[in-house]
Amino acid sequence: MNETREVEAVVIGAGQAGLSSAYHLRRTGFEPDRDFVVLDRSPGPGGAWQFRWPSLTYGKVHGMHSLPGMELTDADPARPSAEVIGAYFDRYERTFDLRVRRPVEVRSVHEGEGGRLLVETSDGTWSTRALINATGTWNRPFWPRYPGQETFRGRQLHTAQYPGPEEFTGRRVVVVGGGASGTQHLLEIAPYAAATTWVTRRPPVFREGPFDQEAGRTSVALVEERVRQGLPPRSVVSVTGLPLNDAIRQGLADGVLDRQPMFDRITPEGVEWSDGGHRRHVAVDVILWATGFRAALDHLTPLRLREPGGGIRVEETRAVVDPRIHLVGYGPSASTIGANRAGRAAVRDIRRLLAEEPVAA
Ligand SMILES: Cc1cc2nc3c(=O)[nH]c(=O)nc-3n(C[C@H](O)[C@H](O)[C@H](O)COP(=O)(O)OP(=O)(O)OC[C@H]3O[C@@H](n4cnc5c(N)ncnc54)[C@H](O)[C@@H]3O)c2cc1C
Repeated sequence: MNETREVEAVVIGAGQAGLSSAYHLRRTGFEPDRDFVVLDRSPGPGGAWQFRWPSLTYGKVHGMHSLPGMELTDADPARPSAEVIGAYFDRYERTFDLRVRRPVEVRSVHEGEGGRLLVETSDGTWSTRALINATGTWNRPFWPRYPGQETFRGRQLHTAQYPGPEEFTGRRVVVVGGGASGTQHLLEIAPYAAATTWVTRRPPVFREGPFDQEAGRTSVALVEERVRQGLPPRSVVSVTGLPLNDAIRQGLADGVLDRQPMFDRITPEGVEWSDGGHRRHVAVDVILWATGFRAALDHLTPLRLREPGGGIRVEETRAVVDPRIHLVGYGPSASTIGANRAGRAAVRDIRRLLAEEPVAA
């Protein structure tokens, strides 16, 4: 496909953030295919949820907010969230006729002519006046590096590849990371594994009581402040703490969640701590890195949006250095409720921008 197609807005990604944005574009009079397109590299509906492990049932999800305009009701908590949310997003896309194009991978976005942006994809080029980037984090798992890592003879995998607990039967497993994924992996794996060890960089902070609106606002404000300064956003757990639910309480009581400090090095047979002259070694077969994800933004590199601090400065959802570009589901809006709101805010802002600036021929 050689021809460049012109639209007013391109939405990259059809997860919660992209679909919320597409919904608001549609609602405010933008026609899919004529005025905007939604491009998604994944094979089916569901955003990153379609790739999550089968044992992450809908009942284990912390609080999935419905997309705007159509509630997710009567979902079976025992069904995998990948299925529940995949089916819901599919229905949503059809109900609002959002015409998501997939699989279409955006490879790069760069400056075009007349104030337009060129979006280069696996399915040709789009020229657009505004861009909503909603690409999430799933494609950029973060693997920290530790000395000796390449010498390890066992298996290393990341949350993004977690297959469910059965594969760990009879294995000695170290889980790295103090977030929700790390604790869920441990609680699932422990009944199958020969032994589990939990290591985190900082001692985990458990949060008692419900996570009310006030606590939510405080957490979002903390991430917002970092993003405003152009720093990379922090993980959600670093600002919210881990909810002390029944499963976590049980894990603490059983000793499954007996946190140890981060090891210093990896050996061919396991992991090792050195404390002054004293060394301690634990033999393991598997290292499971539950160390989170980073924003998947490589395709925006030609636009030079990054600050020296490594992040992109964003006001609400707008990139400070380029008001044509909105990051939805990034930093403070990286939750299902945040993504919903951010989609609306981005569309409001883009409508204003497009109304102010007539199209350059
Ligand atoms: C294990 C896990 C559990 C979570 N549980 C919760 C929870 O319970 N509640 C909650 O609020 N949040 C939860 N989150 C956070 C959650 O992921 C977000 O809230 C939300 O689902 C993210 O939506 P999104 O649209 O930003 O990203 P995604 O769902 O990741 O969607 C991004 C889409 O962009 C596409 N894409 C990426 N790059 C490109 C490209 N270059 N070209 C084209 N398409 C591209 C991807 O294919 C994908 O479909 C969880 C996260 C994880 C990792």
